[in-house]
Amino acid sequence: MTITAAFYRGDKKFDVTQIDSEAPSAGQVQIEVAYCGICGTDLHAYLGHMDARIGFERILGHEMSGVVKSVGEGVEGWAEGDRIVVRPLDHCGDCPACNRGHQHICHNLKFIGLDSQGAMQQLWNVPAHTLHRLPDGVSLRDAALIEPLAVASHDVRMAEVQPGEDVLVIGGGPIGMLVAMVARAAGGKVTISEINENRLALASRLGFDTINPRQVDAAAEILNKTGDKGADVIFEVSGVQPGVDLMTAAAATRARIVMVAIHATKPQVDLFRFFWREIRMLGARVYEPQDYDQAIASIAAGEIDADALITDIRPLDEIAEAFAALTSNPNAMKSLLQING
Ligand SMILES: [Zn+2]
Ligand SMILES: [Zn+2]
Repeated sequence: MTITAAFYRGDKKFDVTQIDSEAPSAGQVQIEVAYCGICGTDLHAYLGHMDARIGFERILGHEMSGVVKSVGEGVEGWAEGDRIVVRPLDHCGDCPACNRGHQHICHNLKFIGLDSQGAMQQLWNVPAHTLHRLPDGVSLRDAALIEPLAVASHDVRMAEVQPGEDVLVIGGGPIGMLVAMVARAAGGKVTISEINENRLALASRLGFDTINPRQVDAAAEILNKTGDKGADVIFEVSGVQPGVDLMTAAAATRARIVMVAIHATKPQVDLFRFFWREIRMLGARVYEPQDYDQAIASIAAGEIDADALITDIRPLDEIAEAFAALTSNPNAMKSLLQING
């Protein structure tokens, strides 16, 4: 059977072409992909920053939803027609991290959709252990947000956000916005710091307090609104040095700072402030299975405004336009590709 697949060919180019689909191997499930979101990581790949890692035969895509088409030998518990999302992590099963139960940060972790073929194709074979079932009330469109939402759920869980705590999210892109939504659902009083006016406007519409650090002294503003205390929990989602400066400057005594962003260079961190205020800093990478379960439950409970975040849906053969629009449109948040149907 032939299917449509989109291959990244380097230098912002994709080939959308027909290929033969392969039957799922033992332990695999074949998914008819419904929607696939375009992630910030996919944008990095598109811009050529990851060519050495992914090559020029790569099918991208890991923020997806779909329906089980068939199952390979030895797979139990899944059947044709099951509505699912995939947790796109493939671990080695025998390294110091795996042996301590931290498979999501396996030392030999393969990220499906970067290190192996992803979801921007009509039929996709994945290991059965990566599947999570969708409840009836969750649409396949909204379910394409579950992967980035699971990132946010992991971040907020690691931070142990408590009801009534002052939370600062530095960076209001799709992940920052989802972190803000999850932190608010956990009871946090959330402020978003962001420099893009369109994103600030969206954050305001969603009911968050906002700060534009290009216009005001953001740390002073946070101290002001917390009675000189500072933020109890700070999520660094900006990936730039001014964000790292703000995260310590705005931190309360014994604040928790969660490092979410992937920084291109090693940032300078104010360790004086860490010592002085007994700040704790946590790294938080991807997600564990329970974060997926939590993300699915949040979507089902209506805690996430999917309509506000999904700004664009296009068919797979418009993949080039979708990526181009994401890099040029300041209003863009989350773009989805419709892969089937
Ligand atoms: Zn992603
Ligand atoms: Zn491992």
